[in-house]
Amino acid sequence: MTDEDVRLAVYRAFAADGRAPAVDVLAAGLGIAADGVRSALGRLADARHLVLDGDTVVMAHPFASVPLGFSVMGRRTLWWGGCAWDSFALPHLLLDEPEVLVASRCPGCGRALSWVVGRDAPPEGDEVAHFLVPTAHIWDDVVRTCGHQRLFCGQPCVDAWLDREGESRGYVMDLATLWRLASRWYDGRLTPGYTRRDPSTAAAYFRSVGLRGPFWGLAEEPAG
Ligand SMILES: [Zn+2]
Ligand SMILES: [Zn+2]
Repeated sequence: MTDEDVRLAVYRAFAADGRAPAVDVLAAGLGIAADGVRSALGRLADARHLVLDGDTVVMAHPFASVPLGFSVMGRRTLWWGGCAWDSFALPHLLLDEPEVLVASRCPGCGRALSWVVGRDAPPEGDEVAHFLVPTAHIWDDVVRTCGHQRLFCGQPCVDAWLDREGESRGYVMDLATLWRLASRWYDGRLTPGYTRRDPSTAAAYFRSVGLRGPFWGLAEEPAG
């Protein structure tokens, strides 16, 4: 039994049920003692494969077991969407769910927002995503980071929210860029042998989907 077996069991349970598997359920499924599961989960959390609160798996990106502003409805399963990035990623990762309904509320004005998100093309709409925390600080408090990767009606609602919260602007992108960012980022998390991207591979990916600048750890390109 390796940590990778435990990681896969967690991910597959989230994918199938939309919920975090309990330690005793994981132990029974894997045929090991609960303490063995707990220590594997601890090591997986240290390696940033998941986020724990006690024995509970709070996040195994792009899956979450706590509400962070998004729901994602498939044909038979309902997931908490994590953040905007994670919610848009689910149809790319869940092979049985070619399209999902992503629902949220604009943090600026409270309006209900929803999109049918599939694999072939970005959803249409003028809404924008605002990410507050730069990539270099994502893991300082990853639950807070995800909680502040939200979708807004448009730029005026982002500005209203920033004003109200006393926060300064992070990074704003349109729906198409968000969809491209989400489309391949989590590739491999539901299959054995997953390895996390190193910083240079991550930077190349961000650039390839159209993200720019130091927020993403990318050097500014010369103008012209
Ligand atoms: Zn709004
Ligand atoms: Zn997230």
